[in-house]
Amino acid sequence: MARVLSIALASLGLMAGAESAAAEAARAPGVSTKALPAVWQVHAIRYATIDSFPVRALVAGADSTRRMGIAMMFWLLQGPAGRRVLVDAGFYRQKFLDSWKPSDFVRPSEALARFGVPPDSVTDVIVSHVHWDHLDGADLFPNARVWIQREEYQYYVGADGAPAHAAIDSLDAAMLARLMQAGRVTLVEGDGKEILPGVTAYTGGRHTFASQYLSVRLAKGTAVIASDNLYLYENLDHHVPIAQTLDPASNLAAQDRMRMIASTPRLIVPGHDPAVFQRFHGDRRGAVRIE
Ligand SMILES: [Zn+2]
Repeated sequence: MARVLSIALASLGLMAGAESAAAEAARAPGVSTKALPAVWQVHAIRYATIDSFPVRALVAGADSTRRMGIAMMFWLLQGPAGRRVLVDAGFYRQKFLDSWKPSDFVRPSEALARFGVPPDSVTDVIVSHVHWDHLDGADLFPNARVWIQREEYQYYVGADGAPAHAAIDSLDAAMLARLMQAGRVTLVEGDGKEILPGVTAYTGGRHTFASQYLSVRLAKGTAVIASDNLYLYENLDHHVPIAQTLDPASNLAAQDRMRMIASTPRLIVPGHDPAVFQRFHGDRRGAVRIE
């Protein structure tokens, strides 16, 4: 009970901090005290490739002979008052390197450091879903608060830190339970929640039990970080569900909703499409700015 209370208080404390950060950023000298909306700079950062991945595992009904190198990436949101938020955290544990043999792998924390952001300066990690390639790196960022949907956490992580359902790796379930115990996890309560000023979480993609995607307010427009609720541009362009979903109709509805939320379909960012790094540009290798 005491633990639950302290987690609740920690999350309240953080929410209050986020609000005051936004207000602070808006309070420039000589400018109206009316709060300006918080805006974010968004980058996609690539830390590995998995070669020759079957497209049929990404796009429902795709030709079984098609293969492609998929981009392993996470997203950095830089916002008000120096706030540095990751959407997903990649992977680094040896068992995943051994079983997936990624090429051009760098630890997500190292990829971030190369980009110029020290891993210990990350304030938040928003986990879209519990799969190893998105969750595993969460403990590389020692000062970050971790955000995940309450239903996702409760469905996959047992009270003892063992996996409650199969989609989560046992090492990652234990890691997430440890972070929870340490008071570093905030559970997001469902759909349409603005978890930080200008950053809103949505459910319904059904990649996993309660996978979430995010809208992010930019200086010009609104981006959607879909993560694996949309694997490839091909899903969106051809209106085809992702291959791994608990509910194809719900996944398609989520894709339609992303089109409504994003100010242009160009600002909808899929989870593994290497074309993200061609459609957008950046100054530093392996990172592009979503704008
Ligand atoms: Zn993935």
